Amino acid sequence: MYFLTLKDIKSMTLDEIKADFAAERQPAFRALQVYKWLHRGVADFSEMSDQSKSFRQELSKKYYIANAVIERKYVSKIDGTIKYLFRLDDGEHVESVLMSYHHGHTICISTQVGCKMNCAFCATGKSGFARNLSASEMLAQIQTAQNDVGIRISNVVLMGMGEPLDNYENVLRFLHLVSSENGLNIGMRHISLSTCGVVDKIYDLADKKLQITLSVSLHAPNDKIRSNTMPVNKKWGVDELLKACRYYADKTGRRISFEYAMINGVNDGDDCARELANKLTGMLSHVNLIPVNNVSGAEFKKSSLDRLKKFSRVLSNKGITVTVRRTLGSDINASCGQLRRRYKEEVANVENIQQE
Ligand code: SAH
Repeated sequence: MYFLTLKDIKSMTLDEIKADFAAERQPAFRALQVYKWLHRGVADFSEMSDQSKSFRQELSKKYYIANAVIERKYVSKIDGTIKYLFRLDDGEHVESVLMSYHHGHTICISTQVGCKMNCAFCATGKSGFARNLSASEMLAQIQTAQNDVGIRISNVVLMGMGEPLDNYENVLRFLHLVSSENGLNIGMRHISLSTCGVVDKIYDLADKKLQITLSVSLHAPNDKIRSNTMPVNKKWGVDELLKACRYYADKTGRRISFEYAMINGVNDGDDCARELANKLTGMLSHVNLIPVNNVSGAEFKKSSLDRLKKFSRVLSNKGITVTVRRTLGSDINASCGQLRRRYKEEVANVENIQQE
């Protein structure tokens, strides 16, 4: 494929582009101009109107610009949340969700095509793992959404398809680029990274001392329940994970956000709430309760609102900060993984019909 022989310029830092250009005897200011175009989200070098035609042609012989093209778009009639299915340059698909709050626009982006983690309740793992996303493909999701709606996105959450800490190097590169002054300039404090608990990488990330928020998908207070729903727990158990979280909070001074999807009869009893509270006591933390979303092929049912409230009361009585997450985009399958899966099934159906 053409882009395998060309360099992914939007994944390069400004210094890397400067070094490349210097080797070609191009002045440093050109590197900055090109960098700014890339981070505004141009799809092609021909759009870089302040560059000479010959230089643009030279660029396109050496580099390519990664894009995310809108394949499908769904807008929630309830709250305006937008779900995108993006097509990448090699024909793979990823999902992003754009949510608007009173304090700004937040985008939830994907970090991998599919996922290897296979959590029992999650739609993404069910359609398998294809590949990691490059830093430029993570940026492209934000840029395309931003240019589509005509707004400035102020917050980013790495909570879409994939496990960000299973694509660690590209995610770090993305964090550097997205927060750069001449790029989208989204500050680290406006970025959250969600992990299912890849413990060795939590330590590595802590040592970087970034100001991002770490979200941990805990979903259970003990190994018995967690290993049943999240295979990653067989490698690193709850206590090991929480130890890494303490290290992260100590190193960065940032509060850890624990995601807890409430599944009827599985992890939503008061006993679970008490066990969770005991384990989190003394840690800089916050618990986010979410009723589990129904995913076809998974047997889980969401807990009632009444159960969520009771569970949340047990936690707060024990001094744990807790919120019940507002569900956005409930009419458009806004939780990630569902759209790519449905799209793949639809395409497979069409192919089957054509074969018959
Ligand atoms: N791999 C990362 C980020 C992607 S998943 C992680 O595991 O954190 C984003 C969040 O959605 C995670 O908290 C995940 O556990 C949660 N999630 C997945 N399927 C869900 C479902 N059916 N209902 C509620 N939350 C779900």
